[in-house]
Amino acid sequence: MTSQLYRLVYHSRNFISGTPEQVSVEVNKILESSQRNNLLIDVTGALIFNAGMFAQVLEGARNDLEATFERIQRDERHGEVEILAFDEASSRGFPSWSMGFVGHSCGDKELFTHIGEGSGFEAKRLEGEHVFRVMRDLAIAEETRAA
Ligand code: FAD
Repeated sequence: MTSQLYRLVYHSRNFISGTPEQVSVEVNKILESSQRNNLLIDVTGALIFNAGMFAQVLEGARNDLEATFERIQRDERHGEVEILAFDEASSRGFPSWSMGFVGHSCGDKELFTHIGEGSGFEAKRLEGEHVFRVMRDLAIAEETRAA
């Protein structure tokens, strides 16, 4: 029996400090372990990072998302984790990404302004569905560029 697909959307505050290069190294470590771990349990999604905030979409079976999110919440590299949505989903928004990193290309700046304002996200004011749609549009833009 295939498990029902769920989607979890949250945002959090970045606690990684240091130079932009040091922050980038740490974010890359997060992406590496995310991709390695998520692949094993068929969890897909995307991460965005902007001036002090993270937002992430995770898709997969409910119990796998809960176990992954438990680990993520304990991670000291961020805090003030706030769930925006945790619902059943009919299909994956990021089917080919065990964990994509979106919003970091210059060409994404226009799309990125929909999710970021000034020096950071104003994601608190955004619905999970909106964050999901913006991140999925960024992922499609990334994939089109890479093709
Ligand atoms: P490893 O991959 O072996 O650890 C990698 C490196 O990260 C180590 O060198 C260690 O120094 C460092 N590290 C590990 N845990 C911590 C910690 N709690 N605090 C500080 N440094 C640490 N994990 C996923 O599996 N899937 C995800 O989608 C995911 N998304 C994340 C999103 C954000 C915003 C953050 C901050 C973390 C995310 N993580 C994710 C990472 C997660 O919190 C755990 O660190 C990770 O799952 C541990 O995997 P591992 O045991 O394979 O560690």
